[in-house]
Amino acid sequence: MNQTCTSCQREVEAWNEKCGGCGFTLELVPDDLRKARYLRTPALGALLFTQGWAFGARLYFWFLLSLVPVFGLIALFVGVFFGRRLSWKYGGWADWEEFTNRMKIMDLIGVAWIFILGAIYFYARFV
Ligand SMILES: [Zn+2]
Repeated sequence: MNQTCTSCQREVEAWNEKCGGCGFTLELVPDDLRKARYLRTPALGALLFTQGWAFGARLYFWFLLSLVPVFGLIALFVGVFFGRRLSWKYGGWADWEEFTNRMKIMDLIGVAWIFILGAIYFYARFV
């Protein structure tokens, strides 16, 4: 998902609104702009359940890394802030629809995961 800068013809990642080469402001059509904004939003699911999220987002390298203590924190950080972009770029999604549907599901699974952990904690602590 790349485009070329209309000023200097350099390849630019599609979610950037400015060319890294010459600083030229790229004109994104509204649909691209909407996608670019979406790709920059933090991934809630990665924050709540990094391992599950990375797997579901098809970021298998980050999934493996998230299983390693300490490196897991790096995976969490990258997942939250760059996860959507990485997943869109490397996930091999058929289309935008499939990608965003999966992102929604993974965010919900993250929330469910926290509830399950909370319930287990509550059970172990008080019951
Ligand atoms: Zn340029």
